[in-house]
Amino acid sequence: MSAADRAAELRELIEDANHRYYVLDDPDVDDQVYDAWMRELQGIEAEHPELLDPDSPTQRVGGAPAEGFAQVRHREPMLSLDNARNADELIDWHRRITTLLEADGEPSEPLRFVVEPKIDGLAVSLVYERGRLAVGATRGDGLVGEDVTQNLRTIRAIPTRLHRVQAPPAVEVRGEVYLPLDAFARLNEARAERGLPTFANPRNSAAGSLRQLDPAEAAERPLSIWSYAVGFRDGIEFTSHFEALEWMRGAGFRVNSEIERFDHIDDVLAACERWEERRGEVDYDIDGAVVKVDSLALQQRLGTVGRAPRWAVAWKFKPVRATTRLNRILVNTGRTGALVPFADLEAVVVGGVTVRQATLHNQEDIARKDLREGDKVIVQRAGDVIPQVVAPLVQDRTGDEIPFEMPTHCGICGTRAVRPEGEVQLRCPNRACPAVIVGSLEHFASRGAMDIEGLGEKTVRRFYDEGLLADVADIYDLAEHRDELIALDGFKDVSVDNLLAAIEASKAQPWHRLLNALGIRHVGEITAEAVAAVVPSLDDLLSADPEALAEAEGVGPVVAGAIVDHLSSDTNRRTLERLRAAGLTVEGPVPTAREGGPLDGLSVVVTGTLSAMSRDEAKRAIVAAGGKATNSVSGATAFLVAGEGGGGKRSKAESLGVPVVGEDEFAAILDGSAPAPAGEGD
Ligand code: NAD
Repeated sequence: MSAADRAAELRELIEDANHRYYVLDDPDVDDQVYDAWMRELQGIEAEHPELLDPDSPTQRVGGAPAEGFAQVRHREPMLSLDNARNADELIDWHRRITTLLEADGEPSEPLRFVVEPKIDGLAVSLVYERGRLAVGATRGDGLVGEDVTQNLRTIRAIPTRLHRVQAPPAVEVRGEVYLPLDAFARLNEARAERGLPTFANPRNSAAGSLRQLDPAEAAERPLSIWSYAVGFRDGIEFTSHFEALEWMRGAGFRVNSEIERFDHIDDVLAACERWEERRGEVDYDIDGAVVKVDSLALQQRLGTVGRAPRWAVAWKFKPVRATTRLNRILVNTGRTGALVPFADLEAVVVGGVTVRQATLHNQEDIARKDLREGDKVIVQRAGDVIPQVVAPLVQDRTGDEIPFEMPTHCGICGTRAVRPEGEVQLRCPNRACPAVIVGSLEHFASRGAMDIEGLGEKTVRRFYDEGLLADVADIYDLAEHRDELIALDGFKDVSVDNLLAAIEASKAQPWHRLLNALGIRHVGEITAEAVAAVVPSLDDLLSADPEALAEAEGVGPVVAGAIVDHLSSDTNRRTLERLRAAGLTVEGPVPTAREGGPLDGLSVVVTGTLSAMSRDEAKRAIVAAGGKATNSVSGATAFLVAGEGGGGKRSKAESLGVPVVGEDEFAAILDGSAPAPAGEGD
């Protein structure tokens, strides 16, 4: 194939991929494959300048703005970034810009660099006129974006007016809108349940959510933003990027407090590597680090070439996507009886972790992606989220791949599966199915529920097989079987006594935890709190009026229906009575944000591992005490709670003079026996 033909072919492939990625938010090729096409095309164009074409995707950014939105012409183009895949490419970039600056003959100031996380979301431009948010737009094709002002206004981390600063006539702040990882996982689960297509990654879900035509729907997705640059400005000047970030922070924007500035490229490289190591620790997806020349004068001198500025480079992390073979599609029965297909994969290392299985949600999802047994597929891990199969590589098919059909019967108990009306998920209707019972027991004892240490998956299964557990209420009878437990292979009196003590302690878990532990469909950790606010005791639950439930805030008809359905079973009612008789907490207050609580109005950050509670529990405790649990330390942080580890935030807090408290002191502040350290508040 001639270079011209190959270039034409690559352009077509890239254009198609761009359309799916930027316009439809539904990519069907792997980022690595896409990046390889792009590099190959750039290589051909560099070798054959006669093939260069201003319309080539190497010269253009993103995709055309979608229909349905008004268009916004950016006052300054919103560009892409060139990549450095390893240390050599970063050093090369440094050498190139140093040479360019030396060659242009102007007297130079020393180069300094700012290193930032590269958030895998969607770039937006926020234009403030006389201090008020006037227009918010997507990047679009870099020159013209989509007007999503109404949707952006629903994001609480975007100030609608500038705080505490002298407002210039106009200023544009740029940032990356993203969906936090746990929200991404929940959104996909909910979409799969409703038979809607799931999003390939947090980036596409953020883009899809922001580019909703309905702002009410967009508001339901907990989008957030990291602001990372000032763009066009009128009536305000900065000399450096770092200074602009500080101004933004002061004006009320969410600016990552772990952005750092360095003089030497070696330190820049070390900072990029640190981000790569820490990517799993943050609750948003980052796919790299961005290195920017700090001085705005030097940025200007370096300028732009094609679709990317010369003064910045993206350090790309090793991919969390990989290609492997989908050996078979297997089906599990979950605790709700749902028949959930999953992929049995040829083992592949994705982002440093070996992946052998991935979730497939339901048959519609498999059909939509057209996954077949034997396909080569793209697998991805997004941060800590469970691995997913993104898409098959259709071009690699041999014809031997086998389309998938859901089984007609539960693979565990053999009962014929049913599809309740209006649902996409096939279910095993047998409440006595071992998969349903073991799954329910496991859920009951899990961390967000009754939190019984020592009663994990393996132990539950073992006790079930031994005939010791068949219902969650049996857990509280285990103490009567102490001798039998000790006689079991692999159990000793110490481990049994610890387990029995943990079971005893779980009786004190608050009522809303028990509500979550019951495993009622649609009632998870958060909904359980809303339900507990409406039915504050077991008696209230047993006599609940379905209509009143359905109207309660945070409950709604679907949840109310599920509760009524759960209570319509005599077995379930008997279980509840047994739990009451065993002495569990069956009534009690729900933690709600308290005005006048010990943390009223204070921003608190938690880092490291705490021994008495998980990080999520600590965050909930902060909110319950009237505070705000934030993820990064800034000047506005009242204090940092530091557990084991967690060095980065601790040093940041120390450098900013933010007080650091240990776990015991935190507990004392929460229960009001010690005052919260003085802080500015948010
Ligand atoms: P990019 O994602 O490589 O880099 C530019 C973008 O980074 C900016 O527009 C901004 O949105 C973002 N960013 C995040 N944090 C930032 C920070 N702190 N400072 C500045 N910018 C920050 O470039 P791109 O043009 O958006 O996308 C290209 C990439 O997208 C490709 O490398 C490829 O991986 C992927 N892609 C994939 C497909 C596909 O079909 N799989 C198609 C198109 C693009």
